[in-house]
Amino acid sequence: MQKSFTPGVTAPPIHAPVRWYLFQGDRLIVDERGGAPAIPTAKNVGDLGLTATQTQYLGVHHDVVATDCFSGLAPDDMALPPGYGAHDLRALFERFDDFEIGVAGRAKQIAHWTRDHQFCGRCGAATELVIGERARRCPACGLSSYPRIAPAIIVAVTRQTTEGARILLARNHRFPAGRYSVIAGFVEAGETLEECLRREVAEETGIQVTNIRYFGNQPWPFPNSLMIGFTAEYAGGEITLGDNEIADAQWFAPDALPLVPPKISIARKLIDDFVTRYTQSATALRTW
Ligand SMILES: [Zn+2]
Repeated sequence: MQKSFTPGVTAPPIHAPVRWYLFQGDRLIVDERGGAPAIPTAKNVGDLGLTATQTQYLGVHHDVVATDCFSGLAPDDMALPPGYGAHDLRALFERFDDFEIGVAGRAKQIAHWTRDHQFCGRCGAATELVIGERARRCPACGLSSYPRIAPAIIVAVTRQTTEGARILLARNHRFPAGRYSVIAGFVEAGETLEECLRREVAEETGIQVTNIRYFGNQPWPFPNSLMIGFTAEYAGGEITLGDNEIADAQWFAPDALPLVPPKISIARKLIDDFVTRYTQSATALRTW
């Protein structure tokens, strides 16, 4: 059976154990007593030996059974019961599948939005949850706030050379040693996705692009991005690093790639797509 998730904002009457997505800061609490990490399940948080505040109903997780899900915040200094661990979601990439990372990412964004919008950003009064909506509202001035999502473009720029196809990859100073990725950047207020893409590629590498095509998208909860993926073709320019964030940028052949991001990321899917398109047999890429 295909796993799926049905979002919801109003909790139904709870008669069975639910899945608790509890965060200590950025770290998700998981039950590791069975070896592999699992989302703790219980009717009440207290049954787990944990405490949580600002709990939010998330919806229904459908696997072999349908299970209601809640997010919440656990105190940072709370000692975990034996066999439990707390991990950044990135540390769970290799241990949860894409679907489970997606649900955990939703939970994290809702938990953090709830935490960060307890007071009105306009007048400072305490906000209230809006019944039946994923929103908080200020009773004093009426300002509503919704979970904030930051759109970002991510693009695989390719070019044809006499030696074959090449992909433009760059190294951010913050990346793990040796790792390169495709170009990405946040959309600015008032900007179209295409304008953002042309600006980011030009700012980071000095390259102009054409033939922009939509590729796919991915919520990326670090902390609240929606990555919108494109492919584009080289139109002109020479690589010049105009942006302090970028340590290096180069054109890479499909059979001579550097270290690239993990499989779960849309960055990797863009790179894998390039490799598949331009090599006879896609070689296994090295991760990180
Ligand atoms: Zn207000």
